Amino acid sequence: MLDNQLLKIAQDFGSPVYVYDAEKIENQYKRLTSAFKNVKKLKINYAVKALSNISILKLLKSLGSGIDTVSIQEVQLGLAAGFSPDQIIFTPNGVSLDEIEEASKLGVKINIDNLSILEQFGTKHPKVPVCIRINPHVMAGGNANISVGHIDSKFGISIHQIPHILRIVENTKMTINGIHMHTGSDILDIEVFLYASEILFDTAKQFKNLEFIDFGSGFKVPYKQGDIETNIEELGKKLSARFNDFCKSYGKDLTLAFEPGKFLVSESGSFLTKVNAVKQTTSTVFAQVDSGFNHLIRPMFYGSHHDIVNISNPKGRERFYTVVGYICETDTFGNNRRINEINDGDILSFKNAGAYCFSMASNYNSRFRPAEVLWYNNKAHLIRKRETFEDIINNQVEVDFTSKKETVLAK
Ligand SMILES: *Cc1c(COP(=O)(O)O)cnc(C)c1O
Repeated sequence: MLDNQLLKIAQDFGSPVYVYDAEKIENQYKRLTSAFKNVKKLKINYAVKALSNISILKLLKSLGSGIDTVSIQEVQLGLAAGFSPDQIIFTPNGVSLDEIEEASKLGVKINIDNLSILEQFGTKHPKVPVCIRINPHVMAGGNANISVGHIDSKFGISIHQIPHILRIVENTKMTINGIHMHTGSDILDIEVFLYASEILFDTAKQFKNLEFIDFGSGFKVPYKQGDIETNIEELGKKLSARFNDFCKSYGKDLTLAFEPGKFLVSESGSFLTKVNAVKQTTSTVFAQVDSGFNHLIRPMFYGSHHDIVNISNPKGRERFYTVVGYICETDTFGNNRRINEINDGDILSFKNAGAYCFSMASNYNSRFRPAEVLWYNNKAHLIRKRETFEDIINNQVEVDFTSKKETVLAK
């Protein structure tokens, strides 16, 4: 999308506003599927939690994607978007058996990541096949908050507990139809990924009724110049060959599944904010925008970098700015950023605002969550209205403090 198209959207729909470029999502989807074109059965299950707007789900459905869900509400959202239950996989962590049973009743694929739940579910529903989430204990990337395959992670059943899984399967006569891993959001090195995959193949050999192997996600996309990006094409070549070999030895064409979130939607997104004030202090120049970590928390939560561009003054002289929000807390989006000269009222565009941005937004400071717009077929489509005061007050219940206090008699 061009900056002037974004600017027009900010003018037409107001700020702050999230904008997603459908073409970028489409291109990423096609990049991934063509990287794995040599695999007979490939399934991409988009991770809903990255960006869960129903129109985004419908767009991905139109491309042939399934979805990966982590809550019963995401399952319901997927069904509302028109996905059939068999196009949905439920991969929760730490939820109750009740919630898993509820999802199972809806007919979606179940992924279990806890031995005790596996045993309970298998005992009650031996006829319902389930997938198991394995923790291969591989550290992907360096950030312990987003690496979920390592030893201290709460995710998955340890690779060392396979004998126990096998015992549960035998005792309950349940069927394991898939093996899954998701090692985190930060795969820097495809060799690490391939290494973890070998562990998965090793595990898979021990289960005779598999239909799919799910390699999760963690594909890295560039957030700034010079960032490393997962080489999907190379991964595709290497993993496809290995997967096809495995299927031969397994004696069946299994489905190779992925569940990318960030890879599909991150780069499609721009978050547009308006500069309320430029504030010169003794040490820096602040640009204060009409947003904060209530709308985009990644910089403050994870220390993530989002490029910030002044789309109102693209030719302006560059200066250093610290871009902050309007929340009554420290909410720095970017420190010492070189940005084209900023004036009050300018529109700043935050890049890579597709994944984990709107979906992590809140009403903190009683602010409205932003509108969302999808740029599709050279047209801006409003896909979520900006909230109103109604949304803030709606579920709040007032206590009547004017009625007389009841006298409590001491015994
Ligand atoms: C969050 C999540 C994903 C998506 O991860 P990305 O880094 O956004 O691709 C995939 N699978 C599971 C189980 C997840 O929880």
